[in-house]
Amino acid sequence: MGLAEIRARVAAAEEKAGRAPGSVKLIAISKVQPDERVRAVLADGHRLFGENKVQEAAGKWPGFREAYGEISVHLVGPLQSNKTKQAMELFDAIHSLDREKLARKIADQAQAMGRCPDLFVQVNSGAEEQKAGVLPEDTDAFVELCRGMDLPVMGLMCIPPVDEEPSLHFALLAKIAARNGLEGLSMGMSGDFESAIALGATHVRVGSAIFGERTYAR
Ligand SMILES: *Cc1c(COP(=O)(O)O)cnc(C)c1O
Repeated sequence: MGLAEIRARVAAAEEKAGRAPGSVKLIAISKVQPDERVRAVLADGHRLFGENKVQEAAGKWPGFREAYGEISVHLVGPLQSNKTKQAMELFDAIHSLDREKLARKIADQAQAMGRCPDLFVQVNSGAEEQKAGVLPEDTDAFVELCRGMDLPVMGLMCIPPVDEEPSLHFALLAKIAARNGLEGLSMGMSGDFESAIALGATHVRVGSAIFGERTYAR
């Protein structure tokens, strides 16, 4: 495990799938990780990270950016509409666009700021009660709605149900993206990123396999 090994595995999976080298972006998910682990990955030259909470990211990335220069940070967790402005100032991409109210907030804010992070529509591919995301059957209409607001929707994102074969969900996401003319596919985590790459992932979100297990404060 560690950054070098995961980079090598991403490259091997690209090659095996006949994908161009570098076509898959490795997002290092640094949520909850101690600063020294994040610094080690920064020191190795990695510049693309992901966080799942706005507040946590706001507490650490301005400082890291000051120390290490330009770094892309993506939001991969849920976004409350009242944090839209803060999120748009902090993140280069948001992977959790999942409802009309949020789309409207982002569109208004983009107007005010004159720019907008790259957006991924989160799809609740397993139609799980407790999980965020647009249902698969509602995704085409939602993408169209977002495009009508001039939002830069780059692709789709999913988090498959823990107890199901992830490749079925990756294939479903790829199919929905293709029929909507979307290139971006944010899918695959520590346990399944190679299968996601085989099915077309453009962004894999890998946390524990790079940084080690997360230890949550009790
Ligand atoms: C935490 C998280 C990841 C990374 O999970 P690992 O299993 O540690 O690789 C990926 N995507 C999202 C949305 C996450 O919240």
